[in-house]
Amino acid sequence: MQRKSPGGVEPLMQVKDPVCGMKVEDSKAPAWGTYEGTPVFFCSEACRRSYERARPPRPK
Ligand SMILES: [Zn+2]
Repeated sequence: MQRKSPGGVEPLMQVKDPVCGMKVEDSKAPAWGTYEGTPVFFCSEACRRSYERARPPRPK
């Protein structure tokens, strides 16, 4: 059994899929990528692809 850390902070971080708005846990996200140095998490590979299509990674 896992206990919450003091203050009720969850060890897993919930992040929002920017494509469909679904909440995903970063360590369990089925798909993710790094955009301009920021990791972005998605509920599925399909959402990751549509995100990349809308916002292609910039070449340096
Ligand atoms: Zn999604």
